[in-house]
Amino acid sequence: MFLKLQDMEIRPIRFDVAYSPGEIEFEAKLRQGGPLQVSGVAELLGATEEIRIQGQYQVMLEADCDRCLDLASFRVAERFDLFYRPDLETSPGEEFEIDRGEVEIAFYEGDGLELADVVREQVLLALPMQRLCREGCKGICPGCGANRNAKECGCTVTAGNDRWAALRGMKL
Ligand SMILES: [Zn+2]
Ligand SMILES: [Zn+2]
Repeated sequence: MFLKLQDMEIRPIRFDVAYSPGEIEFEAKLRQGGPLQVSGVAELLGATEEIRIQGQYQVMLEADCDRCLDLASFRVAERFDLFYRPDLETSPGEEFEIDRGEVEIAFYEGDGLELADVVREQVLLALPMQRLCREGCKGICPGCGANRNAKECGCTVTAGNDRWAALRGMKL
């Protein structure tokens, strides 16, 4: 759904959209497990031509478990309140870098904003650090490669190795 500047000049745009899996491209290893629901309102803030977009979204996402590569499915749901300034300074084709520390300052070009792009960015910012198939996933045995959630492979891991594994886990 395109949020058009001309429409917002007349009145705020209310949106309530469901994006089916595949409509929005996330990361290569991230899939949508169901529709992405997003609703809210986009409005133009007076003479500054700043666009404010408020709303909320929720989506089930699927990825490979970080530890065992099984299916990890998790819900991401957030509220957002975003401001976009017209990009007047940069001429077409001119690239400039936005400091990652200033993510709250965003720009739009031309006659509006694509809602799908806005939501995509919000979802990527909200992703959990760890994607696990279940809480306390036991991962894959370094000895024999068995998925330790499914069976006890019986490999003997010495106490020394265990300590190192724990330390490695803490660094992550
Ligand atoms: Zn797992
Ligand atoms: Zn094993």
